[in-house]
Amino acid sequence: MPALEDSIRFVKGIGPKKAALFEKLHIRTLRDALETYPRDYEDRTVLTRIADIAEDGKYAVRAVVGTEPKTTRIRKGMTLVKCTIFDESGSLPVTYFNNPYAAALLRVGQEYVFYGRVQANGHTRMLISPQSEKVSPDAEHPGRIVPVYPLTAGLTQRDMARVSEAALAAVPGDWPDPLPEVLRARYDLPDAADALAAIHRPQSAQHVADARRRMVFEELFLLCCGLQQLKERRRTDTGLVFSDAPLSDFFAALPFSPTGAQRRAIGEIASDCASGRPMNRLVQGDVGSGKTIVAAALCALAAKSGFQAAFMAPTEILAAQHAETLAPLLEKLGISCTLLTGSMNAAQKRAALAAIESGAAQVVIGTHALIQQSVHFHRLGAVVADEQHRFGVAQRAALSAKGQTPHVLVMSATPIPRTLALILYGDLDVSVLDEVPPGRQPIETYAVGENMRRRITAFIDKQIAQGGQVYVVCPLVEEGEMNLKSAEQHAVDLQNALPHRRVAVLHGRMKSAEKERVMQAFAAKAYDILVATTVIEVGVDVPNANLMVVEDADRFGLSQLHQLRGRVGRGTRQSYCIFFGADKGQTARERLKILCKTNDGFEVARADLSQRGPGDFFGRRQHGLPALHIADPVADLALMQSAREEAEQILQADPTLAGYPELCARVHRMFEERDDEAFN
Ligand code: ADP
Ligand code: MG
Repeated sequence: MPALEDSIRFVKGIGPKKAALFEKLHIRTLRDALETYPRDYEDRTVLTRIADIAEDGKYAVRAVVGTEPKTTRIRKGMTLVKCTIFDESGSLPVTYFNNPYAAALLRVGQEYVFYGRVQANGHTRMLISPQSEKVSPDAEHPGRIVPVYPLTAGLTQRDMARVSEAALAAVPGDWPDPLPEVLRARYDLPDAADALAAIHRPQSAQHVADARRRMVFEELFLLCCGLQQLKERRRTDTGLVFSDAPLSDFFAALPFSPTGAQRRAIGEIASDCASGRPMNRLVQGDVGSGKTIVAAALCALAAKSGFQAAFMAPTEILAAQHAETLAPLLEKLGISCTLLTGSMNAAQKRAALAAIESGAAQVVIGTHALIQQSVHFHRLGAVVADEQHRFGVAQRAALSAKGQTPHVLVMSATPIPRTLALILYGDLDVSVLDEVPPGRQPIETYAVGENMRRRITAFIDKQIAQGGQVYVVCPLVEEGEMNLKSAEQHAVDLQNALPHRRVAVLHGRMKSAEKERVMQAFAAKAYDILVATTVIEVGVDVPNANLMVVEDADRFGLSQLHQLRGRVGRGTRQSYCIFFGADKGQTARERLKILCKTNDGFEVARADLSQRGPGDFFGRRQHGLPALHIADPVADLALMQSAREEAEQILQADPTLAGYPELCARVHRMFEERDDEAFN
């Protein structure tokens, strides 16, 4: 009998080649396959008569193949296969694009259930590249509910079905259920093994719905148990006590006077740190609201109290930039700063590590290099995670573990609705920077189409002539996406269009040192235009840049575009943001228009949530929580609330979950999940 830890390589029909493709979906073992849930289901139990198909849509049709499939080659590498199918009500033409194999399986006179999209155009209708399943004439109920799994190029739904089938077969009869029985009874949830079977091999729509509800509850319950435990652990900790001497010298050293919101947040932090309990605070503030100096204040406080502070940024560029602005500021107060990033050479690293270990480095600014084993702090008292959504819970915890319950500050520019925040960040106190520094003019934002290309190029030229600088952002281009321009190509084109301007390129595949050099040079005005991928999405601060152009903006999420836009409007110059992609259909145009209407990140996030649906919003690990595979914290808010209440109850009675070994193990596994997403 196969075990769940077995590699999927041994599943019949899956060899090493396919296994490598499955790796791309993070599926290595049968257990991984078991936990890869369908992203959708096709309900083929409801059959439609051909005569009743009036509108575009997906249909299941039970019909007989009437004509021999005929192949035509319309151009190089492009084939069409056409045939006609019929039932007792009428006939329907079928066209397969570039899929001669599917069509070759069809036999004239044989009956199938076809499932696919019908394009209806006036009186003509056409079924496009349908899936088909043979049925024998006397079969009563041939339709099925068919799971649709996430795929990658080279894999088919059939491959996915194979491995999930094998995974289900490997589920032992005494499969342990992490959900306590009382909860299953209270919420009328099927047990774990039944639910898994139903998720992968549903018998009916109701069957799937029940199973999904169970899995969602389970996932949210595990999440809430884990968060609750984190919070509980901290509540009983005693915190380091920082000095409560006023920060007047810090404020005096700033090149500007802080906003009221910044003062308030700094005050909250100072009182947390003097309270005797460890601080866990989230600073939420729109891009450009000035979160950096709030964190700097915490670093100064730590140093003045005789502790070290660690400031973790998600990218090398950002870490270097923070070091550059904070070091002079803190050094004015007699506080020493050290940078630690992965790309430093061995000698630099050795020196930094020694300074960190001896305590000579009072404030350490770095990337996730800070959490490596070789880093030993002398007396770590405070930890900052900037752009916290880029870090997993595990990474933040690893940094905290470098000290003894240091004070923790996390900073986020991606706001989420309050009801959700209360649950998801239930263990954090929140400061909101709801005020931008004075003198900022709103960024004028426009959504344009290709027909504006020449005018925009001229506009770029004009802004540079007036002393400004320009960012041009291109989406990451994946292999095979022919119609999108890469950053490199775009830079060449722009340079040709504006030969008298200095154009630089920045993208994720460049070496860190090179990226940093380009960024520094841009900040020092050695370039006029920086063409980049989203490596500049977070935090980069070049106040002289006042125009941002985003290519193929329809490819980005609204919140991400807002983040990008936040790279300009940082100085006193009038700033502009131009989104190309308004000619890519009505949805794209409407989404981009939202950004043209508002500069408020909270409003943008709200629109983003309601437009994209929370699946995407949360799916990309925007919030540094363990990845959710099936639950949708917005759509499943009611279940989330129940899950949280139940988690609280259970943990109150049994804080270590000693009486629930399976639950305990699963919570651990969820929170240990490595966030191995590459940092760009
Ligand atoms: P974010 O919240 O996006 O991290 P930053 O901390 O990078 O914002 O600040 C954005 C810009 O605003 C920086 O150039 C910073 O020096 C400047 N800034 C921050 N606070 C103030 C203030 N109170 N007055 C004027 N400028 C400020
Ligand atoms: Mg920032």
